[in-house]
This record gives sequence, structure tokens and C-alpha cells, in this order.
Amino acid sequence: MIPRITQHIKYLFYTLIVVIHLITFNTQLSAQAPKKMNSGEIYQDLEKLGFLGSVLYVAAHPDDENTRLISYLANEKKALTTYLSLTRGDGGQNLIGTEISELLGVMRTQELLMARSVDNGNQMFSRANDFGYSKNAEETIKIWDTEQVKADVVWSIRKMRPDVIINRFDHRTSGATHGHHTASAQLSFELFEKAMDKTAYPAQLKYVDTWQPKRLFFNTSWWFYGSEDKFKKADKSTLMSIDVGVYFPLLGKSNTEIAAESRSKHKCQGFGSTGTRGMQLEYLELLKGDLPPGKADIFEGINTTWSRVEGGEGIQTLIQDVVKKFDFKNPSKSVPYLIKIYLAIQQTKDPFWKEIKTKEVKDLIAACSGLYLEAKTNMHKATAGEMLNVDIEAINRLDADINLVSIKGKGIEVDTMTSLPLTNNEIFKWTKTTVIPENTPLTAPYWLTKKGSLGLYNVEDQAIIGSPETKRTLKVVFTLNIDGVEIDYEKEIVHKFNSPKNGETFRPLEIVPRLSVKVKEPVYIFASNEPKDIVLTVHAWVKGQSGVLSIPLPKGWKSNPQNISFTIDQKGESKDFVFSITPPSKGQEIYINPEIKSNNEVFTNQIIDIDYDHIPFQTVVQQSESKLSRIDIEIRGKRIAYVMGAGDEVPANLRQIGYDVDIIKANDISANALKTYDALVLGVRAYNTLDELKFKQSEVLKYISEGGTVIVQYNTANGLVTKDLGPYPLTLSRNRVSVEEAEMRFLNPQHEVLNSPNKITPKDFDGWVQERGLYFPDEWDVNYTPVLSSNDPSEKPSDGILLVAKYGDGHYIYTGLSFFRELPAGVSGAFRLFANMISIGKDVRP
Ligand SMILES: [Zn+2]
Repeated sequence: MIPRITQHIKYLFYTLIVVIHLITFNTQLSAQAPKKMNSGEIYQDLEKLGFLGSVLYVAAHPDDENTRLISYLANEKKALTTYLSLTRGDGGQNLIGTEISELLGVMRTQELLMARSVDNGNQMFSRANDFGYSKNAEETIKIWDTEQVKADVVWSIRKMRPDVIINRFDHRTSGATHGHHTASAQLSFELFEKAMDKTAYPAQLKYVDTWQPKRLFFNTSWWFYGSEDKFKKADKSTLMSIDVGVYFPLLGKSNTEIAAESRSKHKCQGFGSTGTRGMQLEYLELLKGDLPPGKADIFEGINTTWSRVEGGEGIQTLIQDVVKKFDFKNPSKSVPYLIKIYLAIQQTKDPFWKEIKTKEVKDLIAACSGLYLEAKTNMHKATAGEMLNVDIEAINRLDADINLVSIKGKGIEVDTMTSLPLTNNEIFKWTKTTVIPENTPLTAPYWLTKKGSLGLYNVEDQAIIGSPETKRTLKVVFTLNIDGVEIDYEKEIVHKFNSPKNGETFRPLEIVPRLSVKVKEPVYIFASNEPKDIVLTVHAWVKGQSGVLSIPLPKGWKSNPQNISFTIDQKGESKDFVFSITPPSKGQEIYINPEIKSNNEVFTNQIIDIDYDHIPFQTVVQQSESKLSRIDIEIRGKRIAYVMGAGDEVPANLRQIGYDVDIIKANDISANALKTYDALVLGVRAYNTLDELKFKQSEVLKYISEGGTVIVQYNTANGLVTKDLGPYPLTLSRNRVSVEEAEMRFLNPQHEVLNSPNKITPKDFDGWVQERGLYFPDEWDVNYTPVLSSNDPSEKPSDGILLVAKYGDGHYIYTGLSFFRELPAGVSGAFRLFANMISIGKDVRP
């Protein structure tokens, strides 16, 4: 035991504790169950306390990161290991729910944080937006606000001070993979020296210092060489390899098993992964700096001990000592030594390592003591000014010498406690009632609170850029006297409850506006002058609310009534209100933002909950918005038979413009049954997903020859159930036009499908979303008439975007245009063109 420090010296030391607000780290997740470490994990972290090396892994999306390498660096090398994902993955697909775009980005952010909590990495993001698929880095860089994204990469380097940077992708092969991927590597390569340059992004230097990393690697694999054979033969003089298959007896797992558990957190991508065991080589190609002579350790030749920090010389020995004496049965025996290390760290001069290692040693002191501190509330959503109950628990479950000096609120008033010894395994609980201060900020994802651009989130506060999530401000600070030294532990106030399904459940405490409003549908289609009902749902997040609800509209649109007064009595209660909206006589697309006026305040936000078991509950606050499309549209024909493929919303969209749509099964296709329909439409990827179609082709052709119309939407070139998609040969390619503004050329301007009943003009291709289309045919029989052509910048034209063929008395149309995206988005021109396709050949009918 070290001697008890006298009161005087204790205060002397206490004043030495410099709290650095300039840099804060992101390892602490909000509202997760507190980490409860066993002796094996504590021992690993004790060793980590003695390693002062940092590595930054750079890629573009959640799921790009190599969790084998991240886990190896964090758990075997014990380095501070950060994954910088330039985007939050908004543009991906969601395999487990309906969230897309920015809401998917919120989910994937949390999945990354869960992955890092498994592999012990740290997580950062830039402000770059995942705007969807991009063919090459040049396009990506153009769409991202490059200067801002560059600034964020430099910011990440200055903030995490990596000795080594590792790129996931090759910066030299633009076009070989997603443009975001190559761009991430190019930026990292280009900016390697920039973080050291005082003249680059000087405004950042108010918060962080300049920094020069020592080495830059590309985390290559045989995959990047085309084949394992080619990789075997390749020159490996600039490559080093690391066996990341190490086994951790303290954890009972191989590194590769931990990596698989981490990767399996990417559930909305369907990246469940099964662990492997045994040797597993990772290859690193040196891009900048010197190749480590041993070719096995990325930190070779770099000082990663406490001697790299001014004033830290003696700390290494102290740590070696505590590691050597660690008692797995009673880790609290280490507490006095850890207190000594804590005090020594407070005297070091490097604010970066001081902050990181202070947090590590504090966590170790708590873990070794079996200390459990908690501040919870029974409320999940609360509002500024509202009363809040806080239940506080403190217990010291081993025999370290701990006194509770005080409990204070941070961001909120909580009464100060009087001094109290925390005796072995005796539980202390208090309930406090307090008011949430009026100026408490909202807790919603910070990058979504202001509208950004296609390529960049709008975040102005430099200090929070890079943070994975919004920092919570309501905390309880426990000041403890541990072995004679006062140490503060901050605990975020969280919502905790018992779920019958999952047991003890933690959620973030959310600070929300007192009123929110949601529009029922994201898009309303007006195909005529007839009014439509629009339903608004108002939520009160504190009891006893009243206000006036309205939908501000531009000239030409009418709302009946103009506004509705309401009262809502209960907290959490919602009410629906209906407005009848009449559109103008001419076509127009508008966005509506309903508003509530209440006590001189205006509320325009909606609240969106994201609730899954594998990530913390998320609450997004966003402007409530819906699109109203008044479409100038004429239709011919009435009844449509629709065969669903992989799933799309096109049937509902066709009903919105006046068609009767029956969903039929592929098995029910027969020329006879289709006779009463004006068109048969096949849903997206029907010829990829419905095996039965290969037996039904003859009936489809019979239906056409007898005067029917068949419209086939996009299919992928691989995995077709039949090669005979139409009455005449056509071949699908992988050609796509992913730039949604790409010029559309009319190859055959007089064609019926461009003229009747709706005259299609270039204006009809305005406002398309995400892309023009995909998997266009690149070869077709002379009987097809190509009608439209387009291409992405500097690519060859695709002329097979819309192919029309006459067959017998009827028509066959194949189109890779993305109607399945454009119709749900209320794009007028897409509706008009689709109506023309259905109407083809029906001009003469009465
Ligand atoms: Zn990716």
C-alpha cells in the first residue's frame, strides 16, 4: 500500500488535474448498458495503459472497415485504433427495416459504434454524405464539398494524432470500385503531410495541434490483384504481412472470432459473419514513410512508450509493476497502484495522451473496484423546463478504500451529497427531482438538424465535427475519494426500464421539442383538380398543450380548413387532423412544411423513432415535410395486371393517377385471363425472382399478339430465369446511368410513347432522384425501336433505355428506367411517361 496522502497534498494534486475541453474522444457510447469488465479484460486494459501509439484506419462507408485488423491493432497491439468512415452510409440498402437515406445513416452510425464496442476501436466520421453509388473518384470528389471533406480528414488526423494511417482502398485505381472508396484513399494519401502544415485549415488550430503521421499503408489483399495466383507472383518488396489470427486466452477468443462478432453488428447490411480460427495474414503495402525493417510491426521504430510524453518517463515502470502484481481473484488490490499512476499521468505535459490515459486509468480504477455508478430516469423523451426524476445508485463491490465526497448535477441541478464511505458491497440509492433547464439543447443527431447538400452534412461547430453522435449534456458527477485522492466520475443520465422481452434496457434520455407534427404520407399525387385529404399527426411531449395547426401553401393551392385549433392533455398523446387540399389546374410540384403555433413559438419538426434490439434506441428530430405533385396527366386504358418481382411501390403509384391495378401471381398469367386488362406490367427484377415466368412466356406473347400491352421493368443481367424476355431477342448489360441529371436524348421524337396522350419534353426529366436507370439492354433485334438515350459523364451512350416493339396486334416495352424510384418520389415526368407506355396503341379506342 502506498501511504495515504494528506489532505494538503491531495488538494495540491487536485489542482493539477487539467480538464482539457479541446479534444474529447468518442469511445463512450450513449445509453448503452455500462461496460462490466471481467478480470481478463481488466488485465488486457492494464497492458494497454502502457502503450502510447495511435493508428487511423480510413475508408468510406460503415462496413468497409477490416474488423480483423482493427481488432488486432486495438486488442493485440493495444493501440488507440480509430476507424474514420468518411460517410455514415445513408445511400445503402436496409435489409431489416424501412429506414432509408439519412435515417439509415443514423442506424449505420449506431451499428458502427456497436461494432467498435466489440473490437475496442474508436469511431469518427467526416461530414461527407453517402449520396449513392458513384462510378469513380472524380465524380465523388465533385459532389462532395471537397474542401470541407479534406478539412475533416485533416481534422481527424490532428485530433487522433495517428503514428500510422491505413487505407482500406487503393488510391491509384479510380473506377475499379465505388467512387467513394477510391476517394477516401486519395484524400488520405493527399493529406498525409497537410495536417502538419500550419497554413492548412488554420481555424482548426484553436482546438488541435498540427501533426505528422510517420507511415501510410494500403491494407491490400489478393482481391486487389485480381486473383490469388497473381498475388502470389506479385512483387512484395513494399509489403508487410501480419498474422491477425492470434488467440486471446484472457478472452477465450481468437482475434478473428472477435472480428466476426464486430462485423455481425452490421445487421441492416446483412453482414452477419462467422468467425474463423488459426493463422490469418493481412497485407499492408507501404505508401509513405519508411518500411519497418522487421516487416511485421507497423509501429517498429516509433516510440510507443510513456517516454514519448514529457513527464511520463516513470509511468512505464509503474504500469509494468501493476501488471505483474495483478490479482485475478481480487483486482481491487491494484487500486492503490492505479491511483499512483493516475496521479503521475496528471503531471505529464502532453494533453492528448493525458486525456486518453486519464480516462483509461479511471475506468480501470472503477473496474478493479467493482464500482457501479448509475444515474437513470424513468422518462425517455423529456422537454426543457420539465420535471425530471433521477435515480442514483453507487456501490463499491470490493474492498478498495472509497468515500463518496459529493454528487453534483452537470447541465442540471442535483443536490450535493454529504460525505459518505462506500463500504464493501453496501448499496446506496437516492432519488432526486429536478427541472431540466430551459436552455438544454435537443439531443437529436446533430448532423441532421440543419439541411445539408447532396454531398455534405451541414455542421458548423468545428468542435463536434467527427463525433459519431450528439453529446449528451445532462449528467451526474460522482466525486469519489479513492485511496486518499479525489476523482470525478461523470455518468450520463439515461433512461432505463425493464423490458419483458429483453430485461434491463437502456435508452438515451432524449430532449425533444414540446410539440411535433408529422405528415402521414411522404408524397401526394394529384392527377386532377380534385381535392385530397392530407392527415397530420400532432404529438405533445409534455402535458397540457394547445396550439393552432396549419399547412402554409403557395399561390394556387387551397387548404380547407385554413387552420385547426387543438388541445392535447397528456404527455406522449397524439391526435390526427385532416386538411382537404385543392391543387392548381396546372402541373406543379411543391413541398409542404406544416406548422404549429403555440404560445408565440412555431413548431415544424417531426420526431422519428428508430427502434431495433441491436442498437440503442434513436430519436431523430427533423423538419416535417411532404411533397405534393399536381401532375398534368392524361391516361388511356383503365385496368392493369401487375406481377410483383423483388418488390416495389409502383402499383400504389399507378392507382394514385387513376388506374385500377390488380396484383396477379406469375402462375395466373394466361392470354385468356389477361384479356380484360389494358396492360400487363412486370415489377422490378421479375425475371430474376420468379421462376414460373419461364413457363409463362408463350402466354405473355399470345396476349401481346392479340392486342395487349406488356411493360417489363429492369432486371439484372445475371440470374435471369429465361433469356427470352421479349418477343424478339434482346441482351441486358450492366450499363447504368447513375447521374440523375444526365441529359436524356430523344432518339425518336415522333414516337407515340413520347407524344400520346402526354407530350414528353426534356422538362419531364427534371427532378429525377438517385439515378436514371440501370441494366439497360445493349443489343436488341431490329424490331425494337430505341426511343431514349443517355449516359453518365465521359461514358458511351446507352441507347437501350426504352425499347418498344410492335408484336402482332399489341406492344412490348422493355425499360431499365428507375420508375420504381421516381414514382414513389412523386416525379411528374416519370408518371407522364409511364402513362404513355400503358396508353400505347389505345389512341383509336373510344
Ligand atoms: Zn463501401
